[in-house]
Amino acid sequence: MTNPESTAVLPAFLDALAAGRLEVIDLTTPLSSATPALRLPEPFANLIDFSLEEVSAYNEPGPFWRHNNIHTGEHVGTHLDAPVHWVTGRDGDDVSQIPVRRLIGPAAVLDLTDRVAADPDYLLTVADVETWEREHGPLAAGMWLLLRTGWESRGEAEAEFLNADDTGSHTPGVAVECARWLATEREITGLGVETVGVDAGLAGGFDPAFPVHHYFLGNDKYGITSLRNLGRLPAVGAMLVVSPLPVVGGTGSPSRVLAVIDRTAA
Ligand code: MN
Repeated sequence: MTNPESTAVLPAFLDALAAGRLEVIDLTTPLSSATPALRLPEPFANLIDFSLEEVSAYNEPGPFWRHNNIHTGEHVGTHLDAPVHWVTGRDGDDVSQIPVRRLIGPAAVLDLTDRVAADPDYLLTVADVETWEREHGPLAAGMWLLLRTGWESRGEAEAEFLNADDTGSHTPGVAVECARWLATEREITGLGVETVGVDAGLAGGFDPAFPVHHYFLGNDKYGITSLRNLGRLPAVGAMLVVSPLPVVGGTGSPSRVLAVIDRTAA
């Protein structure tokens, strides 16, 4: 009866989940009208915020049920950027076309919390990634690189989260050369961040502007934003599951992002 080709990993996986040896961690920011969202300066147009509109609530419009309309921009809260979001990826996949195989993969967590505490405009460098790789091994094909910055602690208040003043929004990100290098020299699937967007707050003034968007989405890679709980993940060894809605023609989608960690790992 047993298929000799079977690796039987799924029964072992499910047993470990049931026994609590594997733990599922939610990396998603709860989605409400209070969820911080990007605020583009004039003359650019902004998306609408998320909102819930009651249609019925066990009352005359629907006596036995409650249901709502949702209104939202695509790029609100924890969300995925699809290649077609950026002009460099305009011929690439929309969010419904992303191969689902790429939405599950290993997570690599790079911790910049100390540097960002000292400098909210800190930019990840190639040297930072190479230092990480010497300790944890190379960023492998299919990995998601997750930048832990501690920024999630500001997530309950939009002003703190966007951290803007007269000179722009001061939030951490990735240096131009590092964005290019990660997108072209590593076969990672994408970049995940705690901030409102995958680029630094001041990245509109970089060359090219918004380099993570420019290089990642132009190289068939993805972005995820507004992640939480990255501090609960090991540097390597977690499995990431990203679940954007398959909106036909969509450039991104609010997404539930889950991590599975091995609680028995050293
Ligand atoms: Mn986006």
